[in-house]
Amino acid sequence: MRAHPAGPLHGNISPPSAAGAPPAELGVLDPQVWPRSARRVDGELHLGGRAVTDLAREHGTPLFVLDEDDFRSRAAEFAAAFTGGDVHYASKAFLCGQVARWIAADGLNLDATSGNELAVALAAGFPAGRIALHGNNKSLVELRAAVDAGVGRIVLDSFDEIDRLVPLAAARTAAGADPVAVMIRTTVGIEAHTHEFIATAHEDQKFGFSLATGDALEAARRVVSEPALHLAGLHSHIGSQIFDTAGFEAAAHRVVGLMGAVREATGQVLEELNLGGGFGIAYLPDDDPVGAADVAGRLRAVVAAECAELGLPVPRLAVEPGRAIAGPGTVTLYEIGTIKPVRLGASGSPGTPLVRNYVSVDGGMSDNIRTALYDAAYTCVLANRSSDAPPALCRVVGKHCESGDILVRDLWLPSDVQPGDLLAVAATGAYCWSMASNYNYLLKPPVVAVRDGVATEIVRRQTLSDVFALDAVLADRPAPSPAIDQPAPEHPAGATS
Ligand SMILES: *Cc1c(COP(=O)(O)O)cnc(C)c1O
Repeated sequence: MRAHPAGPLHGNISPPSAAGAPPAELGVLDPQVWPRSARRVDGELHLGGRAVTDLAREHGTPLFVLDEDDFRSRAAEFAAAFTGGDVHYASKAFLCGQVARWIAADGLNLDATSGNELAVALAAGFPAGRIALHGNNKSLVELRAAVDAGVGRIVLDSFDEIDRLVPLAAARTAAGADPVAVMIRTTVGIEAHTHEFIATAHEDQKFGFSLATGDALEAARRVVSEPALHLAGLHSHIGSQIFDTAGFEAAAHRVVGLMGAVREATGQVLEELNLGGGFGIAYLPDDDPVGAADVAGRLRAVVAAECAELGLPVPRLAVEPGRAIAGPGTVTLYEIGTIKPVRLGASGSPGTPLVRNYVSVDGGMSDNIRTALYDAAYTCVLANRSSDAPPALCRVVGKHCESGDILVRDLWLPSDVQPGDLLAVAATGAYCWSMASNYNYLLKPPVVAVRDGVATEIVRRQTLSDVFALDAVLADRPAPSPAIDQPAPEHPAGATS
């Protein structure tokens, strides 16, 4: 153990310059970052035609507000861009019964990554034939549930899984059913990051069959030799939050090469190629994502060119966007509880100490773990009003017992923000609610869908009774109900003064 005087050695310190220069105007809603229906009306943020102060009063905070038209129009844009192919919504980004119904109604397929995601989709009435089951450690129970339900694709990830699946599939075909359609997830040795991709010599991670070691080809051979399985095609997923298509193009080159090798080894021409998800979104105004139509055009072109080179018929193309559909249309509303100015060591202009305001809100890493987990960058605005006050350097933090409990690391907010104000954090639709925890026994926030002035709670707030019910000692004790509908009189939600 090493101790040091608190200060710049500490991991959470980032230079004040990380916030950049204050923008000319605070609180502007960049259309790349904010839901398509976001507007300011008399200074106040409106989403789906609803004022955030009304939403906060009716549903409490923290609150996920999902712009239904934004979510569904992005789904529709992917579906249209990949006409003739398949778009699988990667439901791990955000899934609930209503989302499963939208995705079903809008004609997309759905990826489940666990038996329980599968169960949620099926319980919502999602057609099993349009579901693909993923996962690097699918249990026998999960595989059986998938086979029994008749899911459209099982994406194989290991030899153990093939061993586990074959008897289940054989029992089905013996009863007269068609062979179980599977894909082989290949690890192509391309790892894409936000702005670049790297090819790794050995794929040191848990997913898929390695192309480089020959495992992927061996898996294809095994599947082709099993009469109870049908090898529908190959799958590759290279990463997340990717802004250019170069990584996908490099992956497509390698997977199409493998399709050629499979034809040579087994005589089988594969009809489907799934290039996975990972299409980036704008979390910050400077982010520059590629639109669905552009992605589709480039992927189609590269797959066609690679196939022509090998004399292969062009396969049906599939993709699996999660974040790009669910991410941009949702914001999280929080109420500010405390504001603590902290003097930073360095000083700004001579004589003026530099201050960072720690703005604490009523949620945090339990409803958005991504900043702590991946150092993700978010932006937020003062939502219940606009302000002409000069900018103040701020850090938006949660109420958890971790100094890494940060929502927005560095940003400028009006210097008159105060307890009771509402903050809206943008682009929280993917991997926030779905990764939520009960750390510090905070409760999972509700999700409210807004559209044309109507707000519908599609997931209700977890209650302390829900949590007590799991506890052997507390199960039959009455839980005090935190009265979210009765804000403390000194800080009514969204109060202005
Ligand atoms: C997570 C995942 C996706 C979705 O990734 P996004 O970055 O949300 O688009 C797609 N396919 C697979 C196999 C995944 O694991």
